[in-house]
Amino acid sequence: MVLDGKGLAKKVLENVKAQIESTGLTPGLAVVIVGDNPASRVYVNNKKKDCAECGIKSEEFALPENAGEGKLLALIDELNNRKDIHGILVQLPLPVGYAQEKVIQAISPAKDVDAFHMLNVGRIFTGNYSFLPCTPAGVIELLDAYDIDPKGKHCVVVGHSNIVGKPMAMMLLHRHATVTICHIHTVDLASFTRQADILVCAVGKVNLITADMVKQGAVVIDVGINRKEGGGICGDVDYEAVSEKASYITPVPGGVGPMTRALLMRNTLEAAKNLN
Ligand code: NAD
Repeated sequence: MVLDGKGLAKKVLENVKAQIESTGLTPGLAVVIVGDNPASRVYVNNKKKDCAECGIKSEEFALPENAGEGKLLALIDELNNRKDIHGILVQLPLPVGYAQEKVIQAISPAKDVDAFHMLNVGRIFTGNYSFLPCTPAGVIELLDAYDIDPKGKHCVVVGHSNIVGKPMAMMLLHRHATVTICHIHTVDLASFTRQADILVCAVGKVNLITADMVKQGAVVIDVGINRKEGGGICGDVDYEAVSEKASYITPVPGGVGPMTRALLMRNTLEAAKNLN
């Protein structure tokens, strides 16, 4: 069965819109982009479109690549102090020469709708959080929507980045799963993935997960985004072959991607509620 991220994301956005209308809040999201990375431009445009769709006021701040870290930090400081801005998103990756970590830590934790600030990361660790990072939160939301309970299951997360793999593992642990984290130095990856009741792959490598690496009936979540030659995107999982074995699987596109976008809108609404 296909886990329809696109359809569920639409419902999340509708819900955000309804809450904005009923509360009378006008959440404000500042979207900061530095330089002219074409992929970043697409992501920023999509975020602005999502904001418009659900009634969030978005404001774009585009700095040239050579603006310098000082200027970027000054902008973040200004946004931290603005009452009409509730969420601040700095589109990553930043150009070479910018200390990404320093920039993230400069964002007020209350406005850190990506949940990358150390304080928010620590809160996720303890389970006492205001925001969850959008991609793993979107995965949990999808599992919930299809009544897939991670409790007692063996969840294998492939990829251990700070933005996807690690928080994903932590959130599954909070749901009482038994969690294994695999990464580039894992020896014999297939021996782990074959044990997974729920397999989450967040690597960025086409066909990393083939059908022989998946247990019959497993739930397979493909977070990976890979650009195909000639246009379009695909995930990390050999979708056609793996969907024959999986009980549930996310497509790419139309799976985790739209959920990530929708959860950013929800985090912005939550930030506005908390700050008001
Ligand atoms: P990253 O490059 O920071 O991390 C990649 C991870 O994969 C690392 O932990 C690395 O150890 C692991 N890895 C690399 N090669 C491996 C291999 N051969 N076997 C096992 N593990 C291996 O990437 P990221 O930011 O975590 O993103 C991962 C993927 O998810 C990318 O394709 C990215 O585009 C995608 N992504 C999708 C969404 C979405 O909304 N769908 C959001 C964020 C990231």
